[in-house]
Order: sequence, then C-alpha cells, then structure tokens
Amino acid sequence: MLTTGPKGTNDILPGQVEKWHFLEKIIKEICREYGYAEIRTPIFEHTELFLRGVGDTTDVVEKEMYTFQDKGKRSLTLRPEMTASAVRAFVEHKLYAQPLPIKVYYEGPMFRYANVQAGRYRQFHQFGVEVFGSDDPVVDAEVISMAMDFYNRLGLRDLELHINSVGCPVCRPKHREELRKFLAGKLDRLCALCRSRYDRNPMRILDCKEEACRLVSEGAPTTLSCLCDDCREHFEKVKNYLDAIGIEYIIDDRLVRGLDYYTKTAFEIMAADIGAQSSIGGGGRYNGLIEQVGGPPTPGIGFALGLERILATMERQGIEIPVENRCDIYLAPLGEEAKLKSFRILDILRRSGLAAEIDNLNRSLKAQMKFANRLKAKYVVILGENELNRGIAAVRNMADGQQEEIALDELINYLKKID
Ligand code: AMP
Repeated sequence: MLTTGPKGTNDILPGQVEKWHFLEKIIKEICREYGYAEIRTPIFEHTELFLRGVGDTTDVVEKEMYTFQDKGKRSLTLRPEMTASAVRAFVEHKLYAQPLPIKVYYEGPMFRYANVQAGRYRQFHQFGVEVFGSDDPVVDAEVISMAMDFYNRLGLRDLELHINSVGCPVCRPKHREELRKFLAGKLDRLCALCRSRYDRNPMRILDCKEEACRLVSEGAPTTLSCLCDDCREHFEKVKNYLDAIGIEYIIDDRLVRGLDYYTKTAFEIMAADIGAQSSIGGGGRYNGLIEQVGGPPTPGIGFALGLERILATMERQGIEIPVENRCDIYLAPLGEEAKLKSFRILDILRRSGLAAEIDNLNRSLKAQMKFANRLKAKYVVILGENELNRGIAAVRNMADGQQEEIALDELINYLKKID
C-alpha cells in the first residue's frame, strides 16, 4: 500500500510531464488569443457550493463527491468540477461590477469518486473556460469553436461535436410535464435511481446510461420539441454562427443537463476511438447558476475538457508531442582540478540561460559519454588533466561526433554561441 498511489490517481513522471507542458503551452496560447484570463481557486470548497452549483440530482453529486469534515466540523468537498468554484469567486469578489463579459480559464485537477476504468479516474485534469455576463448566441458559438480549435491545434482528428438545447425555466416545465406523461406506467422498467428521478428531475432519465432506461426513454419527448420562442431562436442563431465558420455538428436531442440553471445550449465532444469513455469535453449555458449561488442574475456559459482523455486520444491517433531537448551542454571532467574548473563553467553557462549538466558520479569518460548521450546533450565538454595542462577543452558535437579543441579562456564565449 505504501508503494501504491490511491486508486484512480496517476503519477505524471518525467518523460510524460513534457506532454502536459505541451498541453499547458497550447492552453496558454489559445486563451491569450481568445481573450481569457486565468483563474485559480482552492482545490476544496464548502460542500454546499457543489450541492447547489452542480446539482444534487446529478451523478457527480449523488455518487461521486469527495466530501470530508475538517477539524472545525465543516463539510468540505474536493472540487469535482470548476464551474461552481469560478462562479463562487465571481460572486464573492463582485466581478459582476466590472465591465462584462468576464472571461476566465482554468487548468487543474478535479476529484470524483468514480468507478475506475480506462479514461475514468478519481483525480483527473480539466482545461475549461467560463464567460460570465452575455446571453448572446455568438458567445455560445465562440466557446464551442474555441474548444474545437484547441483540439485542432493538438492535431486531433475524427471528433464529433454534439449540440442540443435544453430550454429554459420558461419552456422546461412543459417538457417535464410531457416527459412525465410519457414515462408514467413505465416506471417499473427504470433503474432505482431513475425511478427516484421521475419526481425530482425526470429529464435526467434521458441520459441514464443503463440499457433498460435507454429502452424505456426511446422516443420520449425531447427538449427541442418543447422550446419556447426565445430558446428556439437562440439555438437557430448558434447553429448559424457555427455554420458561418464551418464547424460541423450533430444535433443530439438526448444530450441533457437536467437542472434548472442549465439553459439553452448544451454540447459534448466525442472521440470515436478511445473506447467507452469517449467524451473528451463538454459544456453549455447556465444562465440561472450565478443567481442560484447567490449572485445577481447573470448569464454564463463554459466548457470543460478532460486532459487525460485528450492525451489518450492523441496517443491513439499517433500524434507525436514535440519534446524539447533538456541538455545543451554536458561537462565531462576527469579529476578534481578539472571538476572544480568545470563546476565554475557550469555555473556561468546556467546563468547565461543554457541547460548544462555535469557528472555527479565521478564516472569514467566512457560512462560519462554514455550518460550524456542518454540526456541527449548537444555538446560535451571534456576536461582532463592533459587538457588542463594545455589550457584547452575538447568540445564534442554529439550530433556529428566532431570534436574541436577550444582555448579555456575562449570556451564560455564559444559555448554561448552554439545553438
Ligand atoms: P463533465 O464535467 O462531467 O462534463 O466532464 C468534462 C470532461 O472531463 C469529460 O468530457 C471528460 O473528458 C472529463 N472527465 C470527466 N470525468 C472524468 C473522470 N472521472 N476521469 C477522467 N476524465 C473525466
């Protein structure tokens, strides 16, 4: 147990972390270009925030929260997602008093007590954005297109964008009514959870993954068929804007987010080739959420993309992530005097921005060369007694094996110029 991490968690080791750095670099770039500023919030929040902000009839809250009591007897929860935290910060710091919209992004770990399987972890990472303060359908299209642009920049192919409109508090009661009528008499064929959802939140039955529930809800009335004029017009416009920039989508009327504060647009992105856990991102509008959490009525929309699943899809699709060379110069001294001299050179090289390494194990020259090779060093500087006596160092270009003798007082300048 001591030597095994908790179930559903992953170590990101050297050799893998470079892939994460690559994702993080693209995240920073794209957010700068789309005008999002980073927000960082605590990893844990008051449990109440997620009960209200994610919804107590969602799977995440019903089954998957990491909730604990701290020493002051407060109920706290490791964040299962970020929207609620971002909304809490927006309200707490009165960001609504600033010129709107407020556009924020985040990247970091989320925690869900999920049934662990490939692509489903208990600690996983999301990149997401939130836009607070605009109900304009062009923002929906912008947010969706940003997610698609992100996947595109990573080189991902064969993705499916599913979109739907889940309506609003004006039209949803009609849908709920029709859905209840449709499901009445079929309750005994639903799973226990869905039976309890029938009264509390029947819309959630539509996206239950149980086969029996799927069969029962086949042909059930959809939110799209019940949209009010405002929601219908909004959805038409979102589609028009997506069409205008050539983003393909599939209308998926089973894509639901069953809570009152989720409104209008809902979307999800699937990668066909990563198996059962094919959703690599999703999002939608939540025009009622900020008010629900205690702020002034303010529309909002966002997405959250799962980074583990994105990396798995990239791997599956054979996308190579460029790994930067970590060592420009390897110093290979032989003997104490050469080591002292090399140590000074090492210090100067590092201060001038070069990635430099020195032997730490008093190895033979042969072993040092082997190690330098492993580090993919571009150059090795060999300094032994003989070289010291002659006031030179041997500099080997590891790419072509060419070796040159450079005067010690020229060495730093010489090394600073190599690329
Ligand atoms: P959600 O907040 O549930 O809409 O999730 C957004 C994205 O996060 C999903 O599309 C997945 O890519 C990812 N995700 C959600 N739950 C997990 C999990 N338990 N393990 C890994 N990735 C997850």
